[in-house]
Amino acid sequence: MAARKRVAVVGVGTMGSQAAWRLAARGAEVVGFDRFAPGHDRSAAGGETRIFRSAHFEDSRYVPLLKHADALWERLQQETGRELRRLTGCLLMGPVEHHQMATVLQSIAEHDLDHEVLEAEALAKRFPQYLLEDGDAAVLDRRAGFIRPELTVQTAARRAEQLGARIHRYTPVREIIPVGGGVEVSTDSGSERFDAVVVTVGPWVNDLLPGLPWEVDIRRLVSVWYVPTTDAWFGEERPAFIRTAPTHCYGLPSPDGVSVKIGLSRDLHRPAGDPNALDRVVQPEELEIFTELLRRHLPDLHPDPIRLSVYMEGYTESSRPLVGPLPGAGNENVILLAGFSGHGFKLSPAFGDIAADLALDGHTDQPIDFMTTLGRTAA
Ligand SMILES: Cc1cc2nc3c(=O)[nH]c(=O)nc-3n(C[C@H](O)[C@H](O)[C@H](O)COP(=O)(O)OP(=O)(O)OC[C@H]3O[C@@H](n4cnc5c(N)ncnc54)[C@H](O)[C@@H]3O)c2cc1C
Repeated sequence: MAARKRVAVVGVGTMGSQAAWRLAARGAEVVGFDRFAPGHDRSAAGGETRIFRSAHFEDSRYVPLLKHADALWERLQQETGRELRRLTGCLLMGPVEHHQMATVLQSIAEHDLDHEVLEAEALAKRFPQYLLEDGDAAVLDRRAGFIRPELTVQTAARRAEQLGARIHRYTPVREIIPVGGGVEVSTDSGSERFDAVVVTVGPWVNDLLPGLPWEVDIRRLVSVWYVPTTDAWFGEERPAFIRTAPTHCYGLPSPDGVSVKIGLSRDLHRPAGDPNALDRVVQPEELEIFTELLRRHLPDLHPDPIRLSVYMEGYTESSRPLVGPLPGAGNENVILLAGFSGHGFKLSPAFGDIAADLALDGHTDQPIDFMTTLGRTAA
């Protein structure tokens, strides 16, 4: 019988908690480290909701991975008895000729996804809270909805612990050093040796691994909660939405049934600066773009926000994540997952499974070759 592998998971956030679950489920001896505690909201996983969707507008090659993630979402819910995800649908809206609307329609056609195309009149009747512009299209992705991020991270980490993982909380990792077929992980209280390490430190990637050959641009994301003035948002159907243009934005009716959360996309976020000193204060002028968005497309939301929160996320130039062992001789047991570019949460159980494949087997059968390949060689 092969010896049980010892694997460290550095950063037990979105990806790390899922990696810990998948590794522990496959019999590895897992030790997690987080600078805070699983489920905290000081990084990329706060704000109560994340969108899950099946139709991908960035690249239809993500759809098979989304299907794999979908099955694992169901499994994690079954194993833990927690409702981590609710399928309420997601409306995708934007100019019909916009490339992201084209990619959505391509995803749907190629993978036979459950959807409805809504004409302007039908949309206005069924979802009067949205204003379309001339030339806009609207597609309802039916296998979509929202995920509860903090609950998910905590639940996946606890499930990993039930399966035997140990997690060191409030224990930042200072250094990762490959040593003769293994890896040494150092914290303020000493060093431990592992067969492999999965590095999932999100916005701290440039701090822990300076000099990476790929840039991960850390941005500061503002989420804003508004209260609707009618009950249109909280009827029987409560889909999330994404609008591709002119201002790329998204929103979700909150599970509390009171407010709607609105966020913007990549180019509209400021650099985060030092992740240890994130500016969590939102200045009034930062709200101007939101107010204009409400006026133009979401007139039912009262423009005085009831809550403002700030998070962080790492973006790569291509918006495709970095997944694989670090390049260079001796680094094959240092598996990095970073740069999820604003769309990693829905896929996180699949990435956790891929991390487990790479740490335990050295390769994965999941279709990730279109992502930034790091030191990975074709299986
Ligand atoms: C506001 C916002 C909205 C989003 N909306 C969506 C959405 O609707 N749908 C979607 O799919 N995706 C969405 N995303 C993207 C998604 O949330 C991210 O891609 C994902 O959470 C990134 O996960 P991560 O594991 O890389 O980072 P994180 O979840 O931040 O995890 C990193 C962890 O590493 C820990 N850490 C850092 N440094 C160290 C160290 N040295 N030692 C030990 N631990 C360390 C941190 O404490 C943290 O727990 C959104 C992101 C944001 C910010």
